[in-house]
Parts: sequence; C-alpha cells; structure tokens
Amino acid sequence: MKFSDYNISKEIKSQLDILGYKRPTDIQFKAISHILNGEDVMAIAQTGTGKTAAFAIPTLNIIQQKSKYSKGVQCLVMVPTRELAKQIAKVYREIGKKTGVKTLGLFGGVEQELQISTLNNGIDVLVSSPGRMFDLISQGHLDLSSAKFLVLDEADLMLDMGFAKDIKDVMRFLPQKRQTLFFSATISKKIKSLAYDVVQNAIRIQISPKNPVAKTITHTIIDVKMDDKRFFLENIIKENLEKKIIVFVRTKVRVERVVAAMERVDVASEALHGGIEQKDRFTILESFSTGNNKVLITTDVACRGIDIPEVEFVINYDLPDNPENYVHRCGRTGRAGKRGQALSFCDPAEKEFLKAIEEYTGDEIDVFDVSKGDYLQILNDSDDGTNNWQKLIDQNNTFNDLDLEW
Ligand code: AMP
Repeated sequence: MKFSDYNISKEIKSQLDILGYKRPTDIQFKAISHILNGEDVMAIAQTGTGKTAAFAIPTLNIIQQKSKYSKGVQCLVMVPTRELAKQIAKVYREIGKKTGVKTLGLFGGVEQELQISTLNNGIDVLVSSPGRMFDLISQGHLDLSSAKFLVLDEADLMLDMGFAKDIKDVMRFLPQKRQTLFFSATISKKIKSLAYDVVQNAIRIQISPKNPVAKTITHTIIDVKMDDKRFFLENIIKENLEKKIIVFVRTKVRVERVVAAMERVDVASEALHGGIEQKDRFTILESFSTGNNKVLITTDVACRGIDIPEVEFVINYDLPDNPENYVHRCGRTGRAGKRGQALSFCDPAEKEFLKAIEEYTGDEIDVFDVSKGDYLQILNDSDDGTNNWQKLIDQNNTFNDLDLEW
C-alpha cells in the first residue's frame, strides 16, 4: 500500500511525497487506519520505526478536516524530554505544512513569554514535556478542555523519569471523551497497567517483539580496558573522519573527560548532557544534525527518540547498566532502513552489563578479536602526549628484546 492510496488529505499526501515517504512503515501500516477510524491505540514500537508519523499523519488529517469548526488545543502529545518535544513538533510542522494546522513544541529551560503569546494566538497541536505544561496550566495560560487527542509517546521513559503521576494528573484537564494513542518502546507490567488506565478498548500493536534491536544494525563488542578506551575511540574516529558518530558515556563528568581527551589528540567533538543549558543543547544537536560537528559525546539523555539523520556509528564507550538503554542507544543508527554499526567497549568489570544486554535482546553480540599486537599498536598510534609513558615502556621492551638477541 502507498500513501497515495490512503484516505488522507491531498495537502498531507503532497507533503509526504516531498519528505520522501512513499510507503508506510510497519507501525504506520498497522496504526494509521485505526486512528483515522477514531479508535484508541496502544503500540509497542521500537525507535526508528517511523512511529512519530504513525500518529502525526492521522491526527493531522482529522484536525485539518475539522479545523474550521474547532477552537483551542485539539491534540496534546505528551513526551518525556524537551528534545523530543522539539523534534516531534517539527515532524508535525513538516507533515502538516500545507494543512493550516498550527503546532507548538512546549518545554522548559527557555523563556515562557513567547510560548504564552503563541498559545494565545491559537494552537491546534501541542507537543509538550510535563514541567512547563503544568506551569502554564496552573498560571491559567493553557486550556486543554477542547483536546480530542491525547498522544503519550515514549511512555516507558516517562515512567522511568517519574512522570507516572503527571500522566494521571493531565487527565483531569482533558475531556473524558477523547482518542488516546499510547506509544512505548518496551512493554512491562507497569506499562500495561498505565496504558489500561488511559486507553479504552484499544487496538494493540506490537512491532518486532522478539528482537527489539533493528535488523539494519551490526553489533560488535571490543574488549578494552577502561583506561585504554580513549585510545580506541581516537583510533575509530580518525579511521572514519567523514562519518557521524554518537558516543555514549555513563556520566556527565566522564563525557567532559572524553571530550577533553579527544581535544588533546585533535579530534573535534561536542558534549551533550543534562548539565548543559537547554538552548545550548539545541544548538549542539543542530550542529550534529547538519554534520557541522561529526562526533557527539553524550550520556543517555540523547539515547531516546532523538532522530538524527545518517548516524553511521553508535559507540558505547561505557556499556549501559540498563539493557533497555542499549536498545535505545543503538536505535540512533540504522534508522529508516539505512545500515548502522553499534560498537561497544567492554572492560572486564562491565561483563555483567553485557550479559544482561544479551539476555534482554535474546542475541549474543559478536566479539571483535583484537590481537595483543594490534591492541598495543592502537595505544602507540595515539597522538596523546600523556600516553608517552606507554610508548617509552614499549620502546624499552623492544630494546630489551634486541638486547637479548645480541
Ligand atoms: P521515528 O521512529 O518516528 O523517529 O522515525 C524514524 C525515521 O524514519 C525518521 O527520520 C522519519 O523521517 C523516517 N520515516 C518515517 N516514516 C517514513 C516512511 N514512511 N518512509 C520513509 N521514511 C520514513
């Protein structure tokens, strides 16, 4: 089936054509017609499957048809992070460009005045993270009583981030009669129970339930000692200068250290983590998105949902202690049918994390065998002056060997 065969407006069809969307992805095929029919949906879909458009296309279509008669916010899309609010609002604006439907991405960390005046001018779709939304409701600037749709995206992350109460609270501000679309990357008892609190007789959709990691991604483990990881990272980046690489590191402090280590060896990279100001975070994402900066070093703040085109490598500099995050991190590459590589550095102390990941995905990850000689070569090839001691020891060993031969 093609998008041209769908019962959606010509304005949306023409925009999908411009965006290069010819055929629906699996989740779109399974969700769009039900949403157009007015049904509630509960979908378990991994990242990178096209799930944003799966709810954006039908909600935009319905709002466009009714917009002449409707006033106030028609659709609330609730998301866990500011980055996601911005990104999903952008998808709505792109697909809905010719529909006249107005979308606002609402999030904290920026001045609220402009957001208030945009709301006052009339908004159809509001994509929001919880904090600022509740602020504006309590100040009387935001009224959700006319919303026909509630979309909950990345619901599992919302639970992880402690937003369960916010999700229940927002119901008080929404009409009882509405259509609810519930999206989560993973399924658990808690998720099911939350979903059944908010959806009614929902159509259930599950995409790739067995292996949650996209088939387009090659996964490899390299055994690297903690202290040697930076030399391996330097080596991979220098071998792949034209490629876009996301590097995941466990903590903010370690992110800054890795960025500094790369700077010492003339590798340009940028740090992204929760300790960086919101407006700077957007600029950093934009510069990575456009390819201006090719190496993004980050914590799990960027592992969910963020859609950046053409990321060839995900490097797990540290393995995540939560196996779900492995899946989300890897989902930053191999998007929309493109091939990607996920490389993970594994220190002996991280083996237990690896085991948990393999159990979770149900797949054993291939280990890339690095010979002792190649391992030492990678350390030696480093341009890091602080590694000179290593060079000295190696040179010393070589001299000793020569001594022996003499
Ligand atoms: P998402 O899972 O919503 O983050 O989408 C992943 C990527 O797939 C985004 O870059 C979308 O632009 C792209 N995409 C979504 N639907 C389609 C489609 N039907 N055809 C081609 N690309 C798509």
